[in-house]
Amino acid sequence: MTPRPTPPEVDRVAASRAAIAARRARAAVKNSIASREKTATEVVDSAWGQPDSPEAGLRVRELLTSVPTLGPTRAARVMEQLGIADSKRVGGLGVRQRTKLRSYLVNREGGVEPRRLVVLAGPTAVGKGTVSAYIREHYPDILLSVSATTRQPRPGEIDGVHYYFVSDGEFDRMIESNELLEWAVVHNSYRYGTPRPPIDLALAEGKRVMLEIDLQGARLVRAAMPEAALVFLLPPTWEELVRRLIGRGTESPAEQTRRLETAKVELAAQDEFDYKVINRDVSQAAQEVVELTLVPAAQR
Ligand code: 5GP
Repeated sequence: MTPRPTPPEVDRVAASRAAIAARRARAAVKNSIASREKTATEVVDSAWGQPDSPEAGLRVRELLTSVPTLGPTRAARVMEQLGIADSKRVGGLGVRQRTKLRSYLVNREGGVEPRRLVVLAGPTAVGKGTVSAYIREHYPDILLSVSATTRQPRPGEIDGVHYYFVSDGEFDRMIESNELLEWAVVHNSYRYGTPRPPIDLALAEGKRVMLEIDLQGARLVRAAMPEAALVFLLPPTWEELVRRLIGRGTESPAEQTRRLETAKVELAAQDEFDYKVINRDVSQAAQEVVELTLVPAAQR
């Protein structure tokens, strides 16, 4: 007797039964993470070992929100930092994302807290200002420290946003009353300093903080706060750095020469830094810098 073809509704019933079973299996995986029966790292490891498993079918968002003490807001932020789209399933991640996610989970489970203070330094005209402006705009939950300076505002610069433009007398007062985390004379001309109170407050509230300062300032921060992550922004090539400095057109020829001399000395200091990021593309460089706020101290 030839078997009768299966009616379409039977297929549909079977498919929906399978979908329900898969959903239940994924819910069981989530429960096992929430109840600490399994760690999220164990779950991703089985997902990547067995592509058809419920673990692989779990969305990354579901995985992260099941982790005890990691709420939906934090989970969404972590996914953004790791560059993982909201709809992604654990089994559907590429190699780079798998590596990032796993290292995030391993470190979290190891109880190692990420270093939340990042110092961005680098030679003059490398694009630190552009990268930090990009971070200010696209990563609003990171506090970008506003420095005090004795130099005059350039066109378009706003007091309190780009810098606090202060007099020499006011700068002296800030030093005397210990309001600055660090300060330095930059390019042999003006004084620049980092106000400390907003940074202490943000760190105490669990926020991430970024400073964009010169090399001398970065060294002073390392001494004052050894837990800070020091990032050195590099130009793709020396020629590109010269092109950026001349092309900016904001400095006189004498000032340009002086800044190029400073840049040479500054480039020589790159090995003192925990991390180097090449500024080829602003959004990419910004993302790399921001990701460092998720990497725990032990990995650096
Ligand atoms: P610009 O005058 O072009 O805005 O900045 C000149 C240099 O001063 C840049 O290299 C910048 O990183 C540095 N700078 C800005 N704010 C601070 C600060 O608070 N402390 C230190 N040490 N350097 C700073």
